[in-house]
Amino acid sequence: MMKNKVQHKIDLKQINGDGAFPCPECATMISPEDESESVYKIVNTKVSNNELVELTIKCNNCKTNMKLTGFQQTIES
Ligand SMILES: [Zn+2]
Repeated sequence: MMKNKVQHKIDLKQINGDGAFPCPECATMISPEDESESVYKIVNTKVSNNELVELTIKCNNCKTNMKLTGFQQTIES
């Protein structure tokens, strides 16, 4: 059986500036604006009423999963 790691939660409302935050495990700076996937990979997205409510990402450096919440922008398609 795999041991479940504590999942980190990042509330983007608590983050000032461009929304970049240090990884809770290895302190690598993660910017939600960075879509290159060189720093992190998107594991899962949760969308409700065309609004991004939750993003699960994985830090490429330490492989820690974390959930991002507190998005304010509406996804425009
Ligand atoms: Zn990390």
